[in-house]
Amino acid sequence: MSGKKPQLALYWAASCGGCDVATLDVNEKILDVAAAFDIRLWPIAMDFKYKDIELWADNEIDVCLFNGAVRNSEQLHLAKLLRRKSKVMVAFGACASFGGIPGLANLHDRKTIFEAVYGYTVSTHNPDKVYPAPKLKVSEGELTLPDFFDDVFALHQVIPVEYFVPGCPPTPETIMTAVGAIIEGKLPPAGSTIGINRALCDECKRTKSDKPKIERFYRPQEILTDPDKCLLEQGLTCQGSATRGGCGALCPSVNMPCRGCYGPMPSSSDAGADALSAMASIVDASDEKTADEKMARLVDPLGTFYRFTLPVSLLVRSPKQPQS
Ligand code: SF4
Ligand code: SF4
Repeated sequence: MSGKKPQLALYWAASCGGCDVATLDVNEKILDVAAAFDIRLWPIAMDFKYKDIELWADNEIDVCLFNGAVRNSEQLHLAKLLRRKSKVMVAFGACASFGGIPGLANLHDRKTIFEAVYGYTVSTHNPDKVYPAPKLKVSEGELTLPDFFDDVFALHQVIPVEYFVPGCPPTPETIMTAVGAIIEGKLPPAGSTIGINRALCDECKRTKSDKPKIERFYRPQEILTDPDKCLLEQGLTCQGSATRGGCGALCPSVNMPCRGCYGPMPSSSDAGADALSAMASIVDASDEKTADEKMARLVDPLGTFYRFTLPVSLLVRSPKQPQS
């Protein structure tokens, strides 16, 4: 990066907007960010047009923080365009890094999703079965919509990505660690996740016992927990042992089990399988017959263990590469 300020772009694709709000949650440090970078694109905060981006030179942007998964042709177009215009591409947040909560839609294809959303939900009245289409001729001309893909993609599944910043959303501390590394030119090797390479349990202040066993699983509203004892040992589906640290164990500190938003540990190939294995190992299986029943009482195992990582898991069908 030369004498002028580094050029920064922030973009959101299939996301809830939480990553952008979290960026503002760094409070007054946002002024440091504004002082350190020339912000060239940030749709949530400033008005930009796509044609402005197309006019930039290739590699004109030093760093692009891209949040959100890729679910439609508009998002894919912007991902490819910003990749071409940026020296460093960062998958920012759980959706860009792993597919995130939008990625749970990969349990179904486009046809099934449209039939549900525009067909038979209780609040839908659509007797003519009209579904969104990429092109529609009306008397005034042709209306277009982005093409809705069969699958939701993590960013690195559609373009090369240099760095990953996990979290749903990343905490302000995680964001400032990433921003600080960029400002100081102390980025780790390409392909790295910026943050901590240890399990969330290592950050958690709750105590674990030697050979814990549980009789059943609970949902958080079904049990008053001991504030000092490991939540998993009390029957809550806390995924701290299978989740990368970095958030400071925020959820267990307020009696909520970790849901895994910082994604898998560096050595893991499937975060959900790791978490499921941790659950299975703690169930009292002294009686084989009831052990299966106890595991079967886990509510919504897919949504619990793959809440943020389904598109990058080993579990789902091979996604078709999107065409655009
Ligand atoms: Fe803390 Fe959850 Fe790990 Fe238990 S499983 S130590 S509650 S993060
Ligand atoms: Fe995310 Fe788990 Fe941290 Fe909660 S405790 S913020 S779910 S990584």
